[in-house]
Amino acid sequence: MSNPSILILPGDGIGPEVMAEVRKVIDWFGAKRDLAFDVSEDLVGGAAYDKHGVPLADETMAKAQEVDAVLLGAVGGPKYDVLDFSVKPERGLLRLRKEMDLFANLRPAQCFDALADFSSLKKDIVAGLDIMIVRELTSGIYFGEPRGIFEEGNERVGINTQRYTESEIERAARAAFELAMKRNKKLCSMEKANVMESGILWREVVTRVGQDYPEVELSHMYADNGAMQLVRAPKQFDVIVTDNLFGDILSDCAAMLTGSLGMLPSASLGAPMANGRPKAMYEPVHGSAPDIAGQGKANPIACILSFAMALRYSFDQGDEATRLEAAIEKVLADGVRTADLMGPDDGTPVSTSEMGDKIIEALDASL
Ligand code: NAD
Repeated sequence: MSNPSILILPGDGIGPEVMAEVRKVIDWFGAKRDLAFDVSEDLVGGAAYDKHGVPLADETMAKAQEVDAVLLGAVGGPKYDVLDFSVKPERGLLRLRKEMDLFANLRPAQCFDALADFSSLKKDIVAGLDIMIVRELTSGIYFGEPRGIFEEGNERVGINTQRYTESEIERAARAAFELAMKRNKKLCSMEKANVMESGILWREVVTRVGQDYPEVELSHMYADNGAMQLVRAPKQFDVIVTDNLFGDILSDCAAMLTGSLGMLPSASLGAPMANGRPKAMYEPVHGSAPDIAGQGKANPIACILSFAMALRYSFDQGDEATRLEAAIEKVLADGVRTADLMGPDDGTPVSTSEMGDKIIEALDASL
């Protein structure tokens, strides 16, 4: 059987720097765990625009459709801010999400013990936190029609439309229940069924899908209360499923409970392919960080944790994903820090590649 395939799209700014560390980790699993991948690399974002005049070439899009998983760094930068909207770096990313139909966005919020002091919340509220938000990504108010700014009488009116079909809700719900089955079998669905018809339908469909997962304890919460509970007592949750708009806000809120942007991975999953694996793209939550690009200061952990998610959700290697996460936990517990994880008086930070090397050392020690 051929090896599973990965397409790496490093992108712009710190993207290539953090992805170089992911390459070390991928190579380590090939050499030490007999887990080899067929890795290819291509351009996205500004880097693709510089070469092809578009932020994602058709050939790259075709490759992304064929591989078992896409790993993306980050796109964008000040050099490209003047470009027409249609060729901006971010359009490359949106094209990937849209054409691969990646409808479920998984954003974990996990607090490594060594970084619990770094949260804006009290240590005992976040220490040991490990929750997952599943956000519906391809429908809802960001896509619904009608939309636009229209003249109405003697003033203008801005319109966006929240629209969900039953099948769109169902597939997002199913992704969340499947995830809950792999975790602690606890799922909380968030909407505003008290004031929105789309919320009433959301609740109905999620409840119906739940009948196929009798082992999962399902609860429902209004999204505004959900935001409050996430800050008050986040550890009451395990998996949360919600729509595109609420998910955008709640996942940013939950993620930042845990400290730095340099630590946050994500996965976007679509329908299963012929081989049973979901269409999938894994990427750090952060952008291309032009302010630190090229200086060896970027934290590669978000991107490496995104690969850990690929191990777990695309390649069914949950134990190896746990090994990688434990190696990162060990490095942090040893006090190794990139600059984003330090205060001004906390000593000398390590560079991007030194952090990668330390994680490889911890992986070696795990054998
Ligand atoms: P950003 O995430 O790039 O940076 C925000 C701040 O966090 C910066 O101070 C940066 O130095 C820091 N930071 C981010 N990642 C870090 C890491 N791994 N290690 C250490 N520090 C890190 O967001 P921004 O400054 O708003 O945007 C910069 C560019 O990135 C823009 O062109 C934007 O459009 C693009 N962007 C791309 C994505 C993506 O590719 N998914 C996401 C967000 C922003």
